Amino acid sequence: MQRITNLLYGGPFAKLNAYGAGLTLPSCAHGAHGFSGESHCMPQDRIYFFDTTLRDGEQSPGCSMTHHEKLALANSLADLGVDILEAGFAIASDGDFAAISAVAQEVRGPKIASLARARQEDIERAAKAVEKAARPRIHVFLASSDIHLQYKLKMGRGEALEQAAKMVALAKSYVDDVEFSPEDSTRTDPEFLCQFVGAAISAGATTINLPDTVGYATPEDYAGMFRNILEKVPGAERVILSTHCHDDLGLAVANTLAAIRAGARQVECTINGIGERAGNAALEEIAAAIRVRVDVFPYENNLKLEKLYPVSQQLAGTISFGAAPNKAVVGANAFAHEAGIHQHGVLSNPLTYEIMTPVSVGVPANRMVLGKHSGRTALRSRLQELGYRLSAEDLDIAYRAFTELADRKKAIYDQDLINLVAHHQRHEDLISTEPAVN
Ligand code: MN
Repeated sequence: MQRITNLLYGGPFAKLNAYGAGLTLPSCAHGAHGFSGESHCMPQDRIYFFDTTLRDGEQSPGCSMTHHEKLALANSLADLGVDILEAGFAIASDGDFAAISAVAQEVRGPKIASLARARQEDIERAAKAVEKAARPRIHVFLASSDIHLQYKLKMGRGEALEQAAKMVALAKSYVDDVEFSPEDSTRTDPEFLCQFVGAAISAGATTINLPDTVGYATPEDYAGMFRNILEKVPGAERVILSTHCHDDLGLAVANTLAAIRAGARQVECTINGIGERAGNAALEEIAAAIRVRVDVFPYENNLKLEKLYPVSQQLAGTISFGAAPNKAVVGANAFAHEAGIHQHGVLSNPLTYEIMTPVSVGVPANRMVLGKHSGRTALRSRLQELGYRLSAEDLDIAYRAFTELADRKKAIYDQDLINLVAHHQRHEDLISTEPAVN
């Protein structure tokens, strides 16, 4: 038990642990560690969170935001502790330009980025939009896969290579911090991808993002691509390699985590996983995974996990939809237990069925859903929270009434329990009440 507790609640999580369990794991930032097989204790032993909720997220159906909403969300993302905030695509519209400029001017903490195609007018517009930022970044992208080059850009490989280098250099003339993305990296010829990345690094790119633009990769493919770049491209070890995964096959977070293990140190993601088509890798899922599984991902990061749920709720209230109820970490049911055996276990010790505390990710409390699968223990516990303390005999009677009700209703709310107990009190005088002691 101690070992499990250590693994799941160790490291920074121990501070957040509402159960009082957990030992602190050695941290890379403070010296040597004991993890076998890998030696990542270098300055890069930190994960940088690049949030693109306001760019990739905002450009997807049902996710448009007003200027004011973008600014409010940007402030919350800064409070959450994201390292880089992609505030928009400056040349896309005057509204995008204005929002990026406002975020650059007003939001402090994260680096502020604008996206730009590898075109002079895009880069000039992006540079203008982020000029007031304390730490500006320009994110240049150009497709590298043959299918994109041939059908979308009508450009040969040689021309693309030249254009990428030229435009990274132009961006570099405005800002020190230039990110370059070979769009559709995962469907690019691996040899050409190495040349493309090498050209961008030589031209001054400090972050190389390798997007799975179409959500096609598997974790093994994606990790292999990062290893290949690190092995074959001169200078790759001096830049930050970045992930950008789409969820078309439901693999965005898995791919992101696989790439971290292969050397990626920046992760591009969005709140609630919003984004083009099936969305981007969900920030809250990556954050929770690397925190809970610190044994596998012994890297520092800057996020305050207790802000995850509030930011998720803020986004849901801003756009036209929220997280699905069964969504990991922030969904309404993420910490809900209905089955009796699970409820009994969680009440005895939350570690039986929970790998992180709801409080640690900002969810106010453990919200048990009572239904026909629930047992006496959960019913007694909820009634106690509501101020009713029952004898064993009274609990039996209440439980029978509860199961009858649960057969008719899909979910039982607190109000139903209060009515149920009050009914018995009035008509059968079977249940005594007194204020709960706790
Ligand atoms: Mn994308």
